[in-house]
Amino acid sequence: MASDDTRIARGRWHPAGSSRSEPATLLAQGKTLFVRLENQPGDPVSVNDLTRVEISTRVGRIPRRITFADASLFETEDNDAVDVWLKRQGRTGIVHELERFHPRLAAMVVAVVLLAGLIYRFAVPALVEIAVVVTPPAVTQWMASGTLLSLDKAVFSESQLPKDKQDEIRTAFADIARVSQRGPDAYNLNFRAGGAIGPNAFALPDGTLVITDELVELAGGDLDMITGVLAHEIGHVERDHSLRQLYRAAGTAGLIMLIAGDVGSAGEDILTNGAALMSLSYSRDAESEADRISVELMSKAGHDPRAIGRFFEKIEEKLGMKGDSSFLSTHPGTAERRKAIDDYATRIGTGGT
Ligand SMILES: [Zn+2]
Repeated sequence: MASDDTRIARGRWHPAGSSRSEPATLLAQGKTLFVRLENQPGDPVSVNDLTRVEISTRVGRIPRRITFADASLFETEDNDAVDVWLKRQGRTGIVHELERFHPRLAAMVVAVVLLAGLIYRFAVPALVEIAVVVTPPAVTQWMASGTLLSLDKAVFSESQLPKDKQDEIRTAFADIARVSQRGPDAYNLNFRAGGAIGPNAFALPDGTLVITDELVELAGGDLDMITGVLAHEIGHVERDHSLRQLYRAAGTAGLIMLIAGDVGSAGEDILTNGAALMSLSYSRDAESEADRISVELMSKAGHDPRAIGRFFEKIEEKLGMKGDSSFLSTHPGTAERRKAIDDYATRIGTGGT
């Protein structure tokens, strides 16, 4: 038997469940591994077929452990020798390598996905908040003029509202802008024919407000309804909702571009593209906040604080199902929402009508 023995490596042998260790040699005969203590002739101290031993994975220079079925252990720093022998046994063939690599690869993929998720969940919102605070007015003006320009090119046309109707709306709007946090100079009301966008109103981050002819028509003669909607839009501006929304879209696109490896002008496009703005809807919280501000401003200015709620009722009735390009898609209205508006109006102590 001694003549066929292959000496694999020198190391130390630990008996099962003992911290005692002795210098020993790992040998093999065929696919049978065994350990002989140095300078001690006689039977090997551990013997097992290769399939019954457990060989630790190679991790840098950490000593390899070969655990026998009886829990005795052979430890060696000669990793290379162990690998060379294993390779000869076909244990480190490509299949085995793949098997071993797989958990690590899976862990890597999970880690990358988690990281992207964490960036999306935490880093983007945090950066958005910082960006909102540090954004100078010149930048919001640049975003707004870019957005309005692209909307003018793509969907809007000149308002067909008669001048006296526009003036009437401007006067009512001035009432609520006056009692707003940023004051009347912070806002700039624009009239447009909505085209594909239909009845809509929106606010750009710099205080540029747009109301479409279709929305004015939809309100019928109810001026408070229009004013309520504009007060709601002031709410979005006061709380920087649209700026946050734009940054969030730019941040997400930036993340995608970062992964795709192409940071082009797409970020700029998103910040100044009206279509992008229109496709974004505010969060439920942002909508509720804007609703409450509408109620407050309308009440302060002596207008009907519940007008915004009536407006949602009206727009739902009229537009019903075909809501995709309407005010409803960017401002989802529900019965629940109208009730919240009513309740808030009651709470701040204005009866309304
Ligand atoms: Zn809104």
